[in-house]
Amino acid sequence: MVREDEIRAAERAIEWPEAVDAGLVFIGRIRTPWTSRLECPRQGRTDGPLCRIDVDGPWQEALAGIEEYERLEVLYWLHRSRRDLILQSPRNDGETRGTFALRSPVRPNPIGTSIVALEGIEDGTLLVRGLDCLDLTPLIDIKPDRSLFVPLAPPQKGDFETG
Ligand code: SAM
Repeated sequence: MVREDEIRAAERAIEWPEAVDAGLVFIGRIRTPWTSRLECPRQGRTDGPLCRIDVDGPWQEALAGIEEYERLEVLYWLHRSRRDLILQSPRNDGETRGTFALRSPVRPNPIGTSIVALEGIEDGTLLVRGLDCLDLTPLIDIKPDRSLFVPLAPPQKGDFETG
């Protein structure tokens, strides 16, 4: 039977360290069609289903100007992941790869990122395509896609450093 949190052959977990909290604040919830991890896309696609990003009241003013960008980078907390695996077997075939060489949701700090297409904005809700997370996944951050973003702040020395 396929289970969601099993340790597979040759996978390796660590003893979970004492938590050191960076103080994340969830700023909203993501609404998607998926309620099972076994049905979610492995990676979102910008021609995928329309999803909603509901930004919480106090943070809605922080969306000012976002309509200028047709693509956004969305960061979310993959809240139903285990966090202790260092070696994982994505194909469940005994072959393993290190967690940091994968985009698996199972990681010490289960942050997911997706580039999404912005399709509309309705009162603190963004309508987007390109997500791959479960319904009600907590939202951590939203930024313009870096390939579209030109810094508004004046250039500084480090911007010109090469080598
Ligand atoms: N696009 C992101 C990235 O690359 O950082 C996430 C990729 S991850 C492979 C996507 C998978 O995470 C989904 O197919 C689903 O199995 C799982 N997933 C989605 N939402 C989750 C959640 N809230 N908690 C735990 N696992 C989740």
